[in-house]
Amino acid sequence: LIFGLTILLLLLASVIGHIFAGRAMVPIIRSLQRQQEFTADASHELRTPLSVLRSSVEILEEQREQLPGLHQTVLAQMKDEIIRMIRLTEQLLLLARGDSGMLQLRQESFDLHQAVYAVTERMKTLASEKKIDVRLEDSLPEGEFLFQGDPDQLSQLLYILLDNAIKYSSVGGVVTVLASKNGDSEVELSIQDKGCGIPTENLSHLFERFYRIDKARSRQWGGTGLGLAIAAQIVRHHGGQIQVTSQINQGSTFTVTLPLYKTIHGQRGNNHAL
Ligand code: ADP
Repeated sequence: LIFGLTILLLLLASVIGHIFAGRAMVPIIRSLQRQQEFTADASHELRTPLSVLRSSVEILEEQREQLPGLHQTVLAQMKDEIIRMIRLTEQLLLLARGDSGMLQLRQESFDLHQAVYAVTERMKTLASEKKIDVRLEDSLPEGEFLFQGDPDQLSQLLYILLDNAIKYSSVGGVVTVLASKNGDSEVELSIQDKGCGIPTENLSHLFERFYRIDKARSRQWGGTGLGLAIAAQIVRHHGGQIQVTSQINQGSTFTVTLPLYKTIHGQRGNNHAL
């Protein structure tokens, strides 16, 4: 009987403990929600004035030839900063929406091969400015199996990783995109560069918001320090994983593993155009 009573008391104590612990968490959760809403609202509100500023600067730019040299330089700097702020507010909005569950994700079936090809081709133009060779080694069968997820988000993920690979490579470098199927249930996308590399002690922080190893260098390339946090959010939303390996002055490899929810053969007509 004593043993039974002790068990009952312990159970009661555990239930009461859980209730109080749960209640204690309520104000913390509310405060977090308010913070997320504030970030989402603030970035949303900043978008309109920043777009107005951008248009104003573009109007002034049309008369650039008539402006003194110093004014031309100041105007160019203003435009760069405005574009950076627009990118920053858009990225903040995306992260805040993801945090608060407000991000509307599309669930579409699409040809991953086509998506990877489209983004890689688009990035080749940017890479050519630095004489960087972007190579695609894709063993995904075209149109044969379809990936389920948000095609825009997936393009953005590839864009972020490729943009970084190009940004942190030296002139004349090589960036390789590898896409392959891992068995029947997973797809692996890997972006390799032979750039500056990342020190081992920084690797575990890379996906944190605003984390930049060399702030000046990142800023110089228009970086905000939010790209990899967004990449990680996209991968998480698609139930995948992202990993990085790197060696100083040898280069870095970012590998994304995504689950293939559907394997539909021969449905070419259903592909989403990216
Ligand atoms: P940023 O906008 O600064 O590029 P990211 O979140 O995309 O921000 O990346 C965070 C930091 O990780 C970068 O500032 C850079 O220091 C480092 N990094 C990301 N990708 C690479 C890469 N391919 N090679 C070397 N460093 C990288």
